[in-house]
Amino acid sequence: MTSGQTLSRASYDAILVGAGHNGLTAAAYLARAGLSTLVLERRPIVGGACVTEEIAPGCRASTTSYIASMLRPEVIRDLELARHGLRMVPCDPALLVPFPDGTAVPWWSDRDRTVAELSKLSPADARTFVRVDDELKRLARYLQPFFLEPPPDVGARGWSGLLEALRVGKRFRGISAPEVGRMVAFLTGSLGDFLDRNYESEKVKTLFLANNVYGKHGGPYSPGTALGLLFHLLSGGEHELQGFYGHVLGGMGAITQAMASAARGFGAEILTDAPVATIDVHGGRARGVVLEDGRTIAAPVVVSNADPKRTFLGLVPKAALPDDFRVAIQGIKMDGPCAKVNFVLSEEPKFTGMPAAFTKPQRALATLVPSLEFAERCYNVARTGEIPEELWVDCVVASNVDPSLAPEGRHVMTTFVQYVPYRLQSGADSWDEKRELLGDRVVKKIAEYAPNVPKSVVARQVLTPLDLERVYGLTEGNIFHGDLSLEQLFFMRPVAGWARYRTPVEGLYLCGAGAHPGGGVTGAPGHNAARQVLRDLGKRNGHRGGA
Ligand SMILES: Cc1cc2nc3c(=O)[nH]c(=O)nc-3n(C[C@H](O)[C@H](O)[C@H](O)COP(=O)(O)OP(=O)(O)OC[C@H]3O[C@@H](n4cnc5c(N)ncnc54)[C@H](O)[C@@H]3O)c2cc1C
Repeated sequence: MTSGQTLSRASYDAILVGAGHNGLTAAAYLARAGLSTLVLERRPIVGGACVTEEIAPGCRASTTSYIASMLRPEVIRDLELARHGLRMVPCDPALLVPFPDGTAVPWWSDRDRTVAELSKLSPADARTFVRVDDELKRLARYLQPFFLEPPPDVGARGWSGLLEALRVGKRFRGISAPEVGRMVAFLTGSLGDFLDRNYESEKVKTLFLANNVYGKHGGPYSPGTALGLLFHLLSGGEHELQGFYGHVLGGMGAITQAMASAARGFGAEILTDAPVATIDVHGGRARGVVLEDGRTIAAPVVVSNADPKRTFLGLVPKAALPDDFRVAIQGIKMDGPCAKVNFVLSEEPKFTGMPAAFTKPQRALATLVPSLEFAERCYNVARTGEIPEELWVDCVVASNVDPSLAPEGRHVMTTFVQYVPYRLQSGADSWDEKRELLGDRVVKKIAEYAPNVPKSVVARQVLTPLDLERVYGLTEGNIFHGDLSLEQLFFMRPVAGWARYRTPVEGLYLCGAGAHPGGGVTGAPGHNAARQVLRDLGKRNGHRGGA
Protein backbone atom coordinates (compact mmCIF):
# COMPACT_ATOMS: atom_id res chain seq x y z
CA MET A 1 0.00 0.00 0.00
CA THR A 2 1.25 3.48 -0.72
CA SER A 3 0.47 6.98 0.45
CA GLY A 4 -1.26 7.57 -2.88
CA GLN A 5 -4.00 5.15 -1.89
CA THR A 6 -7.32 6.82 -1.12
CA LEU A 7 -8.88 6.28 2.27
CA SER A 8 -12.40 4.97 2.48
CA ARG A 9 -13.49 7.85 4.72
CA ALA A 10 -12.40 11.25 6.04
CA SER A 11 -12.70 10.27 9.68
CA TYR A 12 -12.39 7.05 11.67
CA ASP A 13 -13.39 5.86 15.11
CA ALA A 14 -9.74 5.10 15.86
CA ILE A 15 -6.36 5.82 14.27
CA LEU A 16 -3.26 3.80 15.10
CA VAL A 17 0.06 5.58 14.68
CA GLY A 18 2.44 2.80 13.65
CA ALA A 19 2.03 -0.74 12.35
CA GLY A 20 4.43 -2.52 14.68
CA HIS A 21 3.10 -5.81 16.00
CA ASN A 22 1.45 -4.01 18.94
CA GLY A 23 -0.22 -1.42 16.72
CA LEU A 24 -1.54 -4.19 14.48
CA THR A 25 -2.72 -6.20 17.49
CA ALA A 26 -4.57 -3.18 18.92
CA ALA A 27 -6.04 -2.39 15.49
CA ALA A 28 -7.31 -5.93 15.06
CA TYR A 29 -9.05 -5.91 18.45
CA LEU A 30 -10.56 -2.46 17.85
CA ALA A 31 -11.78 -3.39 14.38
CA ARG A 32 -13.14 -6.68 15.73
CA ALA A 33 -15.19 -4.67 18.23
CA GLY A 34 -16.76 -2.75 15.34
CA LEU A 35 -14.69 0.45 15.32
CA SER A 36 -13.73 1.92 11.96
CA THR A 37 -9.96 1.69 12.33
CA LEU A 38 -7.05 3.11 10.35
CA VAL A 39 -3.40 2.16 10.82
CA LEU A 40 -0.75 4.62 9.56
CA GLU A 41 2.80 3.34 9.16
CA ARG A 42 5.78 5.52 8.24
CA ARG A 43 7.75 2.67 6.63
CA PRO A 44 6.92 0.99 3.31
CA ILE A 45 6.13 -2.24 5.18
CA VAL A 46 4.21 -3.15 8.31
CA GLY A 47 5.85 -4.85 11.28
CA GLY A 48 8.11 -2.30 13.00
CA ALA A 49 10.79 -4.35 14.75
CA CYS A 50 9.08 -7.62 13.82
CA VAL A 51 9.76 -7.92 10.08
CA THR A 52 11.25 -10.09 7.36
CA GLU A 53 13.19 -8.12 4.73
CA GLU A 54 15.31 -8.93 1.71
CA ILE A 55 18.98 -8.33 2.57
CA ALA A 56 20.40 -9.59 -0.74
CA PRO A 57 18.69 -10.76 -3.93
CA GLY A 58 16.44 -13.70 -3.01
CA CYS A 59 17.67 -13.79 0.62
CA ARG A 60 15.28 -12.80 3.39
CA ALA A 61 16.06 -12.31 7.05
CA SER A 62 14.38 -11.34 10.30
CA THR A 63 16.32 -8.11 10.22
CA THR A 64 15.52 -7.06 13.81
CA SER A 65 13.74 -9.44 16.24
CA TYR A 66 14.54 -13.04 15.42
CA ILE A 67 13.06 -15.46 17.99
CA ALA A 68 9.42 -15.62 19.09
CA SER A 69 9.36 -16.59 22.72
CA MET A 70 6.73 -14.46 24.39
CA LEU A 71 3.96 -13.93 21.84
CA ARG A 72 0.84 -14.30 23.95
CA PRO A 73 -1.08 -17.49 23.22
CA GLU A 74 -4.34 -15.54 23.76
CA VAL A 75 -3.41 -13.11 20.96
CA ILE A 76 -2.51 -15.99 18.64
CA ARG A 77 -5.90 -17.55 19.32
CA ASP A 78 -8.09 -14.42 19.33
CA LEU A 79 -6.68 -13.13 16.06
CA GLU A 80 -6.55 -16.65 14.55
CA LEU A 81 -3.00 -16.03 13.44
CA ALA A 82 -2.52 -19.63 12.34
CA ARG A 83 -5.44 -19.21 9.90
CA HIS A 84 -3.66 -16.09 8.63
CA GLY A 85 -0.51 -18.07 7.90
CA LEU A 86 1.55 -18.04 11.12
CA ARG A 87 3.66 -21.17 11.63
CA MET A 88 6.13 -21.50 14.49
CA VAL A 89 8.43 -24.39 15.27
CA PRO A 90 10.09 -24.80 18.66
CA CYS A 91 13.81 -24.04 18.82
CA ASP A 92 15.29 -27.31 20.01
CA PRO A 93 17.82 -26.98 21.43
CA ALA A 94 16.55 -23.63 22.70
CA LEU A 95 20.14 -22.61 23.08
CA LEU A 96 23.61 -23.86 22.28
CA VAL A 97 26.77 -22.34 23.70
CA PRO A 98 30.10 -23.22 22.09
CA PHE A 99 33.06 -22.69 24.44
CA PRO A 100 36.63 -21.65 23.63
CA ASP A 101 37.85 -25.16 24.62
CA GLY A 102 36.04 -26.60 21.60
CA THR A 103 33.05 -28.05 23.45
CA ALA A 104 29.44 -26.96 23.00
CA VAL A 105 26.58 -27.32 25.49
CA PRO A 106 22.92 -27.40 24.36
CA TRP A 107 19.87 -26.47 26.44
CA TRP A 108 17.02 -28.70 25.32
CA SER A 109 13.34 -27.96 25.67
CA ASP A 110 13.02 -31.37 27.31
CA ARG A 111 14.21 -30.80 30.86
CA ASP A 112 15.50 -34.31 31.46
CA ARG A 113 17.69 -33.99 28.40
CA THR A 114 19.10 -30.68 29.68
CA VAL A 115 19.69 -32.22 33.10
CA ALA A 116 21.66 -35.01 31.42
CA GLU A 117 23.82 -32.39 29.63
CA LEU A 118 24.42 -30.48 32.88
CA SER A 119 25.27 -33.67 34.78
CA LYS A 120 28.29 -34.06 32.49
CA LEU A 121 29.51 -30.66 33.74
CA SER A 122 28.50 -30.92 37.40
CA PRO A 123 26.10 -33.44 38.98
CA ALA A 124 25.44 -30.95 41.83
CA ASP A 125 24.48 -28.23 39.32
CA ALA A 126 22.18 -30.64 37.51
CA ARG A 127 20.31 -31.28 40.77
CA THR A 128 20.17 -27.55 41.55
CA PHE A 129 18.86 -26.89 38.05
CA VAL A 130 15.76 -29.02 38.71
CA ARG A 131 15.06 -27.31 42.04
CA VAL A 132 15.58 -23.79 40.65
CA ASP A 133 13.62 -24.51 37.45
CA ASP A 134 10.61 -25.68 39.50
CA GLU A 135 10.80 -22.62 41.68
CA LEU A 136 11.20 -20.17 38.80
CA LYS A 137 8.28 -21.72 36.94
CA ARG A 138 6.12 -21.41 40.08
CA LEU A 139 7.07 -17.75 40.58
CA ALA A 140 6.63 -16.92 36.87
CA ARG A 141 3.03 -18.17 37.09
CA TYR A 142 2.23 -15.43 39.64
CA LEU A 143 3.48 -12.75 37.24
CA GLN A 144 1.94 -14.26 34.11
CA PRO A 145 -1.62 -12.85 34.53
CA PHE A 146 -0.26 -9.31 34.71
CA PHE A 147 0.90 -9.60 31.10
CA LEU A 148 -2.61 -9.29 29.77
CA GLU A 149 -3.91 -7.08 32.57
CA PRO A 150 -3.10 -3.54 33.57
CA PRO A 151 -0.34 -3.29 36.19
CA PRO A 152 -1.36 -2.77 39.84
CA ASP A 153 -2.80 0.74 40.29
CA VAL A 154 -1.03 2.01 43.41
CA GLY A 155 -2.88 5.33 43.22
CA ALA A 156 -6.38 3.84 43.42
CA ARG A 157 -8.39 5.04 46.43
CA GLY A 158 -11.80 4.28 47.97
CA TRP A 159 -13.83 1.54 46.29
CA SER A 160 -11.59 1.32 43.28
CA GLY A 161 -8.62 1.00 45.64
CA LEU A 162 -10.35 -1.90 47.37
CA LEU A 163 -11.22 -3.60 44.09
CA GLU A 164 -7.65 -3.12 42.92
CA ALA A 165 -6.29 -4.67 46.13
CA LEU A 166 -8.63 -7.64 45.60
CA ARG A 167 -7.54 -8.06 41.97
CA VAL A 168 -3.85 -8.00 42.82
CA GLY A 169 -4.41 -10.12 45.95
CA LYS A 170 -6.20 -12.77 43.89
CA ARG A 171 -3.22 -13.03 41.54
CA PHE A 172 -0.88 -13.69 44.44
CA ARG A 173 -3.23 -15.99 46.34
CA GLY A 174 -1.30 -18.86 47.83
CA ILE A 175 2.13 -17.23 47.63
CA SER A 176 4.17 -18.06 50.73
CA ALA A 177 6.36 -15.63 52.67
CA PRO A 178 9.60 -17.28 51.41
CA GLU A 179 8.27 -17.05 47.85
CA VAL A 180 7.60 -13.32 48.29
CA GLY A 181 11.21 -12.93 49.40
CA ARG A 182 12.49 -14.86 46.42
CA MET A 183 10.24 -12.94 44.04
CA VAL A 184 11.66 -9.64 45.32
CA ALA A 185 15.18 -11.06 45.00
CA PHE A 186 14.54 -11.99 41.36
CA LEU A 187 13.00 -8.62 40.60
CA THR A 188 15.83 -6.62 42.11
CA GLY A 189 18.90 -8.87 42.22
CA SER A 190 21.64 -9.55 39.70
CA LEU A 191 21.82 -12.61 37.48
CA GLY A 192 25.53 -13.02 38.23
CA ASP A 193 25.04 -13.06 42.00
CA PHE A 194 22.16 -15.51 41.67
CA LEU A 195 24.23 -17.87 39.53
CA ASP A 196 27.31 -17.61 41.74
CA ARG A 197 25.16 -18.47 44.77
CA ASN A 198 23.54 -21.49 43.16
CA TYR A 199 25.92 -23.06 40.65
CA GLU A 200 29.56 -24.16 40.66
CA SER A 201 30.32 -24.84 36.98
CA GLU A 202 31.29 -21.76 34.94
CA LYS A 203 29.80 -23.40 31.86
CA VAL A 204 26.44 -23.92 33.55
CA LYS A 205 26.45 -20.27 34.63
CA THR A 206 27.28 -19.21 31.08
CA LEU A 207 24.39 -21.26 29.75
CA PHE A 208 22.01 -19.25 31.95
CA LEU A 209 23.69 -16.03 30.91
CA ALA A 210 23.28 -16.89 27.23
CA ASN A 211 19.55 -17.27 27.87
CA ASN A 212 19.14 -13.88 29.57
CA VAL A 213 19.94 -10.16 29.75
CA TYR A 214 19.18 -9.47 26.09
CA GLY A 215 18.85 -5.86 24.99
CA LYS A 216 18.86 -4.64 28.55
CA HIS A 217 21.16 -2.18 30.24
CA GLY A 218 23.58 -3.75 32.66
CA GLY A 219 26.20 -6.44 32.74
CA PRO A 220 25.22 -9.70 34.45
CA TYR A 221 26.23 -8.29 37.86
CA SER A 222 23.96 -5.22 37.60
CA PRO A 223 20.91 -5.15 39.90
CA GLY A 224 17.68 -6.11 38.15
CA THR A 225 19.26 -8.51 35.64
CA ALA A 226 17.84 -11.61 37.40
CA LEU A 227 14.38 -10.54 36.27
CA GLY A 228 14.88 -12.14 32.85
CA LEU A 229 14.94 -15.58 34.53
CA LEU A 230 11.25 -15.09 35.36
CA PHE A 231 10.23 -13.31 32.15
CA HIS A 232 11.61 -16.11 30.01
CA LEU A 233 9.43 -18.63 31.79
CA LEU A 234 6.17 -16.92 30.93
CA SER A 235 4.38 -19.27 28.65
CA GLY A 236 4.42 -18.57 24.92
CA GLY A 237 3.67 -20.12 21.55
CA GLU A 238 0.40 -21.66 20.45
CA HIS A 239 0.43 -24.32 23.15
CA GLU A 240 1.24 -22.14 26.18
CA LEU A 241 4.54 -23.83 26.97
CA GLN A 242 6.57 -22.29 29.76
CA GLY A 243 9.97 -21.25 28.42
CA PHE A 244 8.90 -21.62 24.77
CA TYR A 245 11.39 -20.45 22.10
CA GLY A 246 10.14 -20.46 18.54
CA HIS A 247 11.46 -20.06 15.02
CA VAL A 248 8.88 -18.43 12.78
CA LEU A 249 8.61 -19.88 9.30
CA GLY A 250 9.04 -17.03 6.83
CA GLY A 251 10.86 -15.02 9.51
CA MET A 252 9.40 -12.76 12.19
CA GLY A 253 7.60 -10.75 9.54
CA ALA A 254 5.22 -13.69 9.16
CA ILE A 255 3.82 -12.71 12.59
CA THR A 256 3.03 -9.16 11.54
CA GLN A 257 1.80 -10.21 8.09
CA ALA A 258 -0.65 -12.54 9.83
CA MET A 259 -1.66 -9.76 12.24
CA ALA A 260 -2.17 -7.30 9.39
CA SER A 261 -4.26 -9.88 7.55
CA ALA A 262 -6.34 -10.47 10.70
CA ALA A 263 -6.82 -6.71 11.22
CA ARG A 264 -7.91 -6.24 7.59
CA GLY A 265 -10.21 -9.22 7.97
CA PHE A 266 -11.96 -7.36 10.79
CA GLY A 267 -12.26 -4.30 8.53
CA ALA A 268 -9.21 -2.22 9.52
CA GLU A 269 -7.45 -0.17 6.83
CA ILE A 270 -3.65 -0.06 6.78
CA LEU A 271 -1.69 2.64 5.02
CA THR A 272 2.09 2.35 4.66
CA ASP A 273 4.52 5.12 3.62
CA ALA A 274 2.29 7.35 5.74
CA PRO A 275 4.36 9.04 8.46
CA VAL A 276 2.33 10.96 11.02
CA ALA A 277 3.77 14.44 11.62
CA THR A 278 1.49 15.56 14.45
CA ILE A 279 -1.22 14.24 16.69
CA ASP A 280 -3.93 16.86 16.53
CA VAL A 281 -5.00 18.01 20.01
CA HIS A 282 -7.72 20.55 20.70
CA GLY A 283 -9.00 21.57 24.12
CA GLY A 284 -7.06 18.74 25.79
CA ARG A 285 -8.61 16.09 23.48
CA ALA A 286 -7.11 14.17 20.59
CA ARG A 287 -9.06 14.74 17.41
CA GLY A 288 -6.95 13.06 14.74
CA VAL A 289 -3.58 13.26 13.03
CA VAL A 290 -1.76 15.29 10.42
CA LEU A 291 0.42 13.31 8.02
CA GLU A 292 3.80 14.56 6.86
CA ASP A 293 2.29 15.07 3.39
CA GLY A 294 -0.20 17.53 4.95
CA ARG A 295 -3.30 15.34 4.94
CA THR A 296 -5.49 15.59 8.04
CA ILE A 297 -7.46 12.58 9.22
CA ALA A 298 -9.95 12.90 12.05
CA ALA A 299 -10.61 10.42 14.86
CA PRO A 300 -11.78 10.81 18.47
CA VAL A 301 -9.34 8.05 19.48
CA VAL A 302 -5.66 8.06 18.53
CA VAL A 303 -3.51 5.14 19.69
CA SER A 304 0.24 5.54 19.36
CA ASN A 305 2.44 2.52 18.71
CA ALA A 306 5.49 4.80 18.54
CA ASP A 307 7.71 4.79 21.62
CA PRO A 308 6.90 7.22 24.47
CA LYS A 309 9.66 9.72 23.63
CA ARG A 310 8.75 9.79 19.94
CA THR A 311 5.05 10.10 20.78
CA PHE A 312 5.11 12.73 23.49
CA LEU A 313 8.22 14.71 22.58
CA GLY A 314 7.84 14.42 18.80
CA LEU A 315 4.19 14.07 17.82
CA VAL A 316 2.12 15.75 20.54
CA PRO A 317 2.32 19.56 20.62
CA LYS A 318 4.31 20.72 23.64
CA ALA A 319 1.50 22.92 24.95
CA ALA A 320 -0.86 19.93 25.10
CA LEU A 321 1.09 18.18 27.85
CA PRO A 322 1.75 19.08 31.50
CA ASP A 323 5.38 20.07 32.06
CA ASP A 324 5.96 17.42 34.74
CA PHE A 325 4.73 14.70 32.37
CA ARG A 326 7.09 15.85 29.62
CA VAL A 327 9.97 15.94 32.11
CA ALA A 328 9.16 12.38 33.20
CA ILE A 329 9.07 11.22 29.57
CA GLN A 330 12.40 12.94 28.87
CA GLY A 331 13.84 10.98 31.82
CA ILE A 332 12.99 7.52 30.47
CA LYS A 333 16.20 5.51 30.18
CA MET A 334 16.61 4.33 26.61
CA ASP A 335 20.00 4.53 24.83
CA GLY A 336 19.84 0.98 23.53
CA PRO A 337 22.90 -1.22 24.11
CA CYS A 338 22.63 -3.55 21.12
CA ALA A 339 22.97 -3.94 17.37
CA LYS A 340 22.17 -6.48 14.69
CA VAL A 341 24.34 -7.87 11.91
CA ASN A 342 22.62 -10.00 9.27
CA PHE A 343 24.59 -12.19 6.87
CA VAL A 344 24.17 -14.08 3.63
CA LEU A 345 26.76 -16.88 3.52
CA SER A 346 27.87 -19.23 0.80
CA GLU A 347 28.39 -22.05 3.32
CA GLU A 348 26.65 -23.09 6.49
CA PRO A 349 28.72 -21.95 9.51
CA LYS A 350 30.63 -24.82 11.11
CA PHE A 351 30.69 -24.06 14.84
CA THR A 352 33.31 -25.89 16.85
CA GLY A 353 31.86 -28.48 19.17
CA MET A 354 28.59 -28.78 17.24
CA PRO A 355 27.68 -32.47 17.68
CA ALA A 356 28.03 -34.36 14.39
CA ALA A 357 24.66 -36.05 14.92
CA PHE A 358 22.76 -32.76 15.00
CA THR A 359 20.20 -32.24 12.25
CA LYS A 360 20.19 -29.02 10.22
CA PRO A 361 17.52 -27.28 12.36
CA GLN A 362 19.38 -28.37 15.50
CA ARG A 363 22.46 -26.60 14.12
CA ALA A 364 20.56 -23.28 13.83
CA LEU A 365 21.63 -21.63 17.10
CA ALA A 366 24.94 -20.66 18.65
CA THR A 367 25.40 -18.05 21.38
CA LEU A 368 28.94 -16.75 21.58
CA VAL A 369 29.46 -15.50 25.12
CA PRO A 370 32.20 -17.40 26.91
CA SER A 371 31.60 -16.29 30.52
CA LEU A 372 29.88 -13.92 32.95
CA GLU A 373 33.10 -12.06 33.43
CA PHE A 374 33.46 -11.57 29.66
CA ALA A 375 29.95 -10.11 29.43
CA GLU A 376 30.52 -7.82 32.39
CA ARG A 377 33.73 -6.47 30.81
CA CYS A 378 31.96 -5.98 27.48
CA TYR A 379 29.21 -3.93 29.17
CA ASN A 380 31.71 -1.83 31.07
CA VAL A 381 33.57 -0.93 27.87
CA ALA A 382 30.33 -0.04 26.07
CA ARG A 383 29.12 2.23 28.86
CA THR A 384 32.18 4.41 28.35
CA GLY A 385 31.03 5.05 24.77
CA GLU A 386 33.50 2.67 23.09
CA ILE A 387 32.78 -0.32 20.85
CA PRO A 388 34.19 -3.33 22.74
CA GLU A 389 36.83 -5.40 20.94
CA GLU A 390 35.09 -8.52 22.22
CA LEU A 391 31.36 -8.76 21.67
CA TRP A 392 28.51 -11.02 22.77
CA VAL A 393 27.10 -12.44 19.53
CA ASP A 394 23.94 -14.52 19.34
CA CYS A 395 23.79 -16.36 15.99
CA VAL A 396 20.74 -17.89 14.32
CA VAL A 397 21.19 -19.70 11.03
CA ALA A 398 17.57 -19.17 10.07
CA SER A 399 17.80 -20.87 6.66
CA ASN A 400 18.67 -24.14 8.46
CA VAL A 401 15.10 -24.13 9.78
CA ASP A 402 13.37 -22.46 6.85
CA PRO A 403 15.21 -23.09 3.56
CA SER A 404 12.75 -20.79 1.73
CA LEU A 405 14.65 -17.80 3.16
CA ALA A 406 17.58 -18.29 0.78
CA PRO A 407 18.14 -19.85 -2.66
CA GLU A 408 20.13 -23.06 -3.08
CA GLY A 409 23.76 -22.53 -2.07
CA ARG A 410 23.02 -19.53 0.17
CA HIS A 411 22.49 -19.37 3.95
CA VAL A 412 20.96 -16.62 6.05
CA MET A 413 22.45 -16.01 9.50
CA THR A 414 21.27 -13.20 11.76
CA THR A 415 23.33 -12.10 14.73
CA PHE A 416 22.20 -10.07 17.72
CA VAL A 417 25.09 -8.14 19.20
CA GLN A 418 25.67 -6.56 22.59
CA TYR A 419 26.98 -4.50 24.28
CA VAL A 420 27.47 -1.42 22.15
CA PRO A 421 26.81 2.19 23.09
CA TYR A 422 24.11 4.32 21.47
CA ARG A 423 26.21 7.37 22.27
CA LEU A 424 29.72 6.80 21.01
CA GLN A 425 32.36 8.81 22.78
CA SER A 426 33.15 10.28 19.38
CA GLY A 427 29.48 11.40 18.98
CA ALA A 428 26.29 9.48 18.11
CA ASP A 429 26.55 10.41 14.42
CA SER A 430 30.00 8.84 14.23
CA TRP A 431 28.25 5.44 14.06
CA ASP A 432 28.15 6.12 10.32
CA GLU A 433 31.95 5.93 10.26
CA LYS A 434 32.11 3.03 12.73
CA ARG A 435 29.43 0.80 11.16
CA GLU A 436 31.85 -1.45 9.26
CA LEU A 437 34.23 -1.60 12.23
CA LEU A 438 31.37 -3.09 14.23
CA GLY A 439 30.64 -5.54 11.40
CA ASP A 440 34.32 -6.57 11.30
CA ARG A 441 34.44 -7.18 15.06
CA VAL A 442 31.35 -9.36 14.87
CA VAL A 443 32.91 -11.41 12.04
CA LYS A 444 36.12 -11.73 14.08
CA LYS A 445 34.20 -13.05 17.09
CA ILE A 446 32.27 -15.54 14.94
CA ALA A 447 35.51 -16.70 13.30
CA GLU A 448 36.85 -17.80 16.71
CA TYR A 449 34.05 -20.39 16.83
CA ALA A 450 33.21 -20.92 13.15
CA PRO A 451 36.44 -20.39 11.18
CA ASN A 452 34.73 -20.96 7.82
CA VAL A 453 32.49 -17.90 8.17
CA PRO A 454 34.72 -14.94 7.15
CA LYS A 455 35.48 -16.33 3.70
CA SER A 456 31.86 -17.33 3.10
CA VAL A 457 30.29 -13.90 3.66
CA VAL A 458 28.41 -12.94 0.50
CA ALA A 459 26.54 -9.96 1.97
CA ARG A 460 26.20 -8.36 5.35
CA GLN A 461 23.85 -5.77 6.79
CA VAL A 462 25.07 -3.95 9.89
CA LEU A 463 22.38 -2.23 11.95
CA THR A 464 23.94 0.02 14.60
CA PRO A 465 21.86 1.54 17.41
CA LEU A 466 21.66 4.67 15.23
CA ASP A 467 20.31 2.60 12.31
CA LEU A 468 17.70 1.04 14.60
CA GLU A 469 16.61 4.58 15.41
CA ARG A 470 16.66 5.94 11.88
CA VAL A 471 15.25 2.96 9.99
CA TYR A 472 12.89 1.38 12.50
CA GLY A 473 11.94 4.50 14.47
CA LEU A 474 13.31 3.14 17.76
CA THR A 475 14.31 6.24 19.71
CA GLU A 476 17.94 5.99 20.87
CA GLY A 477 18.01 2.52 19.30
CA ASN A 478 16.16 0.98 22.25
CA ILE A 479 14.63 -2.30 21.16
CA PHE A 480 12.09 -2.28 24.00
CA HIS A 481 10.91 1.39 23.73
CA GLY A 482 12.61 1.99 27.10
CA ASP A 483 14.94 -0.09 29.23
CA LEU A 484 13.33 -3.01 31.07
CA SER A 485 14.65 -1.99 34.46
CA LEU A 486 12.46 -2.32 37.54
CA GLU A 487 11.98 1.44 37.91
CA GLN A 488 10.52 1.45 34.39
CA LEU A 489 8.20 -1.55 34.74
CA PHE A 490 4.67 -2.32 35.99
CA PHE A 491 2.95 0.82 37.32
CA MET A 492 5.95 2.92 36.29
CA ARG A 493 5.80 2.14 32.55
CA PRO A 494 6.06 4.42 30.64
CA VAL A 495 6.09 6.78 33.65
CA ALA A 496 4.53 6.72 37.11
CA GLY A 497 0.85 7.60 37.10
CA TRP A 498 0.28 6.77 33.41
CA ALA A 499 0.64 3.00 33.23
CA ARG A 500 -2.84 2.27 31.95
CA TYR A 501 -2.41 3.19 28.29
CA ARG A 502 -4.25 6.51 28.78
CA THR A 503 -2.27 9.74 28.55
CA PRO A 504 -2.78 13.32 29.76
CA VAL A 505 -4.48 13.99 26.40
CA GLU A 506 -8.02 12.60 26.44
CA GLY A 507 -8.57 10.14 23.62
CA LEU A 508 -4.83 9.55 23.12
CA TYR A 509 -3.48 6.14 24.15
CA LEU A 510 -0.12 4.39 24.04
CA CYS A 511 -0.08 0.76 22.82
CA GLY A 512 3.58 -0.07 22.12
CA ALA A 513 6.39 -1.74 24.01
CA GLY A 514 6.90 1.47 26.01
CA ALA A 515 3.67 0.64 27.83
CA HIS A 516 3.05 -2.20 30.33
CA PRO A 517 4.22 -4.99 30.24
CA GLY A 518 7.05 -3.82 27.98
CA GLY A 519 9.15 -4.94 25.05
CA GLY A 520 9.57 -8.12 23.11
CA VAL A 521 7.19 -9.59 20.58
CA THR A 522 4.27 -10.29 22.91
CA GLY A 523 1.24 -8.43 21.55
CA ALA A 524 0.40 -7.72 25.19
CA PRO A 525 0.58 -3.89 25.24
CA GLY A 526 -1.47 -3.79 22.02
CA HIS A 527 -4.08 -6.15 23.45
CA ASN A 528 -4.29 -4.28 26.77
CA ALA A 529 -4.44 -0.83 25.18
CA ALA A 530 -7.30 -1.90 22.91
CA ARG A 531 -9.15 -3.21 25.94
CA GLN A 532 -8.67 0.12 27.74
CA VAL A 533 -9.93 2.06 24.70
CA LEU A 534 -12.99 -0.16 24.43
CA ARG A 535 -13.71 0.14 28.14
CA ASP A 536 -13.50 3.92 27.94
CA LEU A 537 -15.73 4.00 24.87
CA GLY A 538 -18.10 1.61 26.60
CA LYS A 539 -18.32 4.04 29.49
CA ARG A 540 -19.09 6.91 27.14
CA ASN A 541 -21.44 5.00 24.87
CA GLY A 542 -23.08 2.89 27.53
CA HIS A 543 -21.79 -0.50 26.32
CA ARG A 544 -18.75 -2.57 27.06
CA GLY A 545 -16.16 -3.31 24.42
CA GLY A 546 -14.83 -6.78 23.88
CA ALA A 547 -11.01 -7.10 23.64
C1 LIG B 1 17.55 -5.85 16.85
C2 LIG B 1 16.35 -6.30 17.64
C3 LIG B 1 16.28 -7.62 18.08
C4 LIG B 1 15.20 -8.05 18.83
N1 LIG B 1 15.08 -9.37 19.14
C5 LIG B 1 13.92 -9.81 19.70
C6 LIG B 1 13.64 -11.20 19.75
O1 LIG B 1 14.39 -12.03 19.24
N2 LIG B 1 12.49 -11.59 20.35
C7 LIG B 1 11.59 -10.69 20.87
O2 LIG B 1 10.55 -11.10 21.41
N3 LIG B 1 11.83 -9.36 20.78
C8 LIG B 1 12.94 -8.90 20.18
N4 LIG B 1 13.15 -7.57 19.99
C9 LIG B 1 12.22 -6.61 20.61
C10 LIG B 1 10.91 -6.50 19.87
O3 LIG B 1 11.12 -6.65 18.50
C11 LIG B 1 10.27 -5.13 20.12
O4 LIG B 1 10.25 -4.83 21.49
C12 LIG B 1 8.84 -5.13 19.59
O5 LIG B 1 8.80 -5.59 18.27
C13 LIG B 1 8.24 -3.73 19.67
O6 LIG B 1 6.97 -3.78 19.05
P1 LIG B 1 6.01 -2.54 19.02
O7 LIG B 1 4.89 -2.89 18.12
O8 LIG B 1 5.66 -2.11 20.38
O9 LIG B 1 6.86 -1.35 18.40
P2 LIG B 1 7.65 -1.24 17.02
O10 LIG B 1 7.92 -2.56 16.45
O11 LIG B 1 8.80 -0.34 17.28
O12 LIG B 1 6.61 -0.51 16.07
C14 LIG B 1 6.36 0.86 16.11
C15 LIG B 1 5.94 1.27 14.72
O13 LIG B 1 5.56 2.64 14.72
C16 LIG B 1 6.04 3.23 13.52
N5 LIG B 1 6.07 4.67 13.70
C17 LIG B 1 6.84 5.38 14.57
N6 LIG B 1 6.61 6.70 14.43
C18 LIG B 1 5.65 6.82 13.47
C19 LIG B 1 5.01 7.94 12.87
N7 LIG B 1 5.28 9.19 13.23
N8 LIG B 1 4.08 7.71 11.89
C20 LIG B 1 3.77 6.44 11.51
N9 LIG B 1 4.39 5.35 12.04
C21 LIG B 1 5.30 5.54 13.00
C22 LIG B 1 7.40 2.59 13.34
O14 LIG B 1 7.89 2.73 12.01
C23 LIG B 1 7.09 1.15 13.71
O15 LIG B 1 6.64 0.42 12.59
C24 LIG B 1 14.18 -7.13 19.18
C25 LIG B 1 14.23 -5.82 18.69
C26 LIG B 1 15.30 -5.41 17.91
C27 LIG B 1 15.32 -4.01 17.37
